[in-house]
Amino acid sequence: MNERIDTVIIGGGHAGLTMSYFLSQRGREHVILERGRVGERWRSERWDSFCFQFPNWTIELPGYKYQCDDPEAFAPGREVVRFIEDYAAFIKAPTRCGVEVASLERTVDSRRYLLATNNGAIEASNVVIATGPYQVPVTPAMSAYVPNNIFQVHSNAYRNANQLPPGSVLVVGAGASGCQIADDLNQSGRQVYLSVGRHSRRPRKYRGKDYAYWVSALGTTEQIVDTVPEQLRKGSEILLTGANGGYDVDLRAMAAGGVVLLGHLQGINGSKLILADDLTQNLARGDEALENFKRAVDDYITKNGLEFLAEREPAVKSEVPSPVSRLNLKDAGVSAIIWATGFRCNFDWVKLPIFDDGRQPLHRRGVTRLPGIYFLGLRWLYKRKSAFLRCASGAEDAAYLAEQIMARQ
Ligand SMILES: Cc1cc2nc3c(=O)[nH]c(=O)nc-3n(C[C@H](O)[C@H](O)[C@H](O)COP(=O)(O)OP(=O)(O)OC[C@H]3O[C@@H](n4cnc5c(N)ncnc54)[C@H](O)[C@@H]3O)c2cc1C
Repeated sequence: MNERIDTVIIGGGHAGLTMSYFLSQRGREHVILERGRVGERWRSERWDSFCFQFPNWTIELPGYKYQCDDPEAFAPGREVVRFIEDYAAFIKAPTRCGVEVASLERTVDSRRYLLATNNGAIEASNVVIATGPYQVPVTPAMSAYVPNNIFQVHSNAYRNANQLPPGSVLVVGAGASGCQIADDLNQSGRQVYLSVGRHSRRPRKYRGKDYAYWVSALGTTEQIVDTVPEQLRKGSEILLTGANGGYDVDLRAMAAGGVVLLGHLQGINGSKLILADDLTQNLARGDEALENFKRAVDDYITKNGLEFLAEREPAVKSEVPSPVSRLNLKDAGVSAIIWATGFRCNFDWVKLPIFDDGRQPLHRRGVTRLPGIYFLGLRWLYKRKSAFLRCASGAEDAAYLAEQIMARQ
């Protein structure tokens, strides 16, 4: 007979652990199945110089805060892993590591759910799918046309410059990952070409406080999914970094430091890159987002009659030195391409009617139409903050799901 467990949580990232915290509080039997190790994505899908993108004072999960000497500093990736491990121990999470769920379907009698794993089958009354918001790396189809002698890697598998063959590097995608990796490579002495698409700049610090302080104060993290139009939810990538103590990610400054900025990459023809003529426009949009953010903070301060440091006049915007509209990979000595082109979800292993035509989960606050089947940790699951680790952002969603599970006796 198959093992029977009341509730199975799939995924041992911070979302799965948060779920476990609320179920334990309510004395509900459960287990976490994790195919790797606890916090696996922070261990094996971040580069060596990666630092948490928000200050240490934001590192928190329900009932547990990160202990550190400097709350304003930025924890390196290995510290985030240690924090997640410590949290799992602190809440005594019933975790089974090395157990991958290969499929999830109904049992033959339809009374429970059947999880096929590499360690036997489990039947559960409730299943929380917490397999992450950033699951499968997306690499554009044009990567198939890259000449064979060029090394290619997605940002989730990039570690450091030594992993790449000697030579120049093309980084495609200037979101937070692409910019951080481009900086990492530039600092290690590589010539970097960075293809820039739409992005949103943010200040690391403004009027004496970190960006994280202001997003909480402005209440943007609390925005509920239905109140923000879909195109704004998809939005453009916010540029932030916690590396080297945290600093403003400024593409113009990167260009002044030697990174060659390119427009959006549209295709590859032999050694030639086909680039859109949109660099100036993309930079302008990024600047506009920065100014809008600062204005929102200024308005907030004025409206509430608060006293904060006055900000110095912004520096005059530097022009990007000789914008490059075409590039030949061979002539530029490019030996490696890093695709910082994002992620998608893959729920092909979930054999249940809880997806739309595009295989996107159908749910309301993580509750699907099938009793006992839930999602947790997805982007915009309920609020803008839903998928983040910082400030125990997923706690509200997990507590809500715990209540739903408790209501199912
Ligand atoms: C490059 C990058 C940087 C980020 N930086 C920050 C940051 O600085 N601050 C912040 O707050 N957020 C950050 N995020 C966003 C987000 O908080 C993290 O992605 C976080 O890891 C999400 O946690 P999670 O528990 O929902 O999912 P994950 O951490 O992805 O955990 C899901 C777990 O499920 C496991 N799993 C998947 N499928 C199965 C299966 N079939 N069976 C068993 N186990 C399975 C995986 O191994 C994984 O351990 C970042 C995201 C990325 C991509």
